[in-house]
Amino acid sequence: MQMTREDALKVYEILEETFPDARAELDYTTPYELLVATILSAQCTDVRVNKVTKVLFENYNTPEKMVTLSQEEMEDYVHSCGVYRNKAKNILAASRIILDRYDGEIPDTIEGLMTLPGVGRKTANVVASNVLDIPAIAVDTHVFRVSNRLGLADAKNVDKTEKQLMDIWPEDCWSKGHHLLIFLGRRICKSQNPLCEECPLTDYCKYYRGEDANG
Ligand code: SF4
Repeated sequence: MQMTREDALKVYEILEETFPDARAELDYTTPYELLVATILSAQCTDVRVNKVTKVLFENYNTPEKMVTLSQEEMEDYVHSCGVYRNKAKNILAASRIILDRYDGEIPDTIEGLMTLPGVGRKTANVVASNVLDIPAIAVDTHVFRVSNRLGLADAKNVDKTEKQLMDIWPEDCWSKGHHLLIFLGRRICKSQNPLCEECPLTDYCKYYRGEDANG
């Protein structure tokens, strides 16, 4: 069962107090850089992605420059990110589409972003909420786990979790809420051993009360 909207707002406020600096942990200076970094971040840590993009973006930080790389050259840059062949292929293909169809700028809607190779709903939501000022909640593994443990959501998949979070929190909480839940998941509500004794949300948490079904 989901918690009440009133409790969900209290949870949001406590998270804001606990993590006043919650923000994207990927390094970027332009929307295009965030798009590339987010594609690379699938099944990879932000720390690793930041190391890779620091070198890549020195010379290839626009779609115009990126498409001058061959598939092999691109793979050399991103090989430590995992699934690197696909990621290299998708970034090159997405960059060509951005040049051909979008005049060199990333699409400015979630639907438009999702037409790019390698960009699913989660990636589109990350980019939209961080650089396009479109309220969105990207549900990654941390957001899914933490929101279902807490009872902010009560869902078996990410799509339903996203819908439930958008329903229980007002729109102006969505984008920041995504970062807050990731900060909680990375620092306290860890996958294997949640540090409940350090958590400020025990009063509201379904898992802590022993009611969680999703783990
Ligand atoms: S009380 Fe424990 S399970 Fe609940 S959100 Fe906090 S760390 Fe996670």
